[in-house]
Amino acid sequence: MNFKEILQESSLTEKARMLAVSSEESVAWLNALPASSLGNLLEDDTLRISVGPRMGAPVCAPHICRCSATVDVYGSHALSCRYSAGRHSRHSVLNKSLSRALVTCQSHAIIEPNAVLRDDIRTRPDGMTLVRSKE
Ligand SMILES: [Zn+2]
Repeated sequence: MNFKEILQESSLTEKARMLAVSSEESVAWLNALPASSLGNLLEDDTLRISVGPRMGAPVCAPHICRCSATVDVYGSHALSCRYSAGRHSRHSVLNKSLSRALVTCQSHAIIEPNAVLRDDIRTRPDGMTLVRSKE
């Protein structure tokens, strides 16, 4: 049975998972050199939760989320739940990682700086990092 045939017999959820993990970019993180100076060393649970959904493996015990939704063993509800703290921490970790990489390249980086938008000096632009060469 080839990949296309497996897809045809899969549920929509499995089909989405297999298409996502089979894209070329989805494995790029596996090629990152683990380095504590870059902050990209993964703890055991972080690795388990990162790999589990890619493999279709269970990552948690079934439970009721604080938003009242039922969470199954695959835990995909956390990807869209408004109470999910993981989304915010991933966002923050990615921003900090990019900032460290820019500083390593001798650039000055400010993560989500205030006053970038002329009409709104209080709002921090989501995901925006200012880069200015130190020279
Ligand atoms: Zn929820």
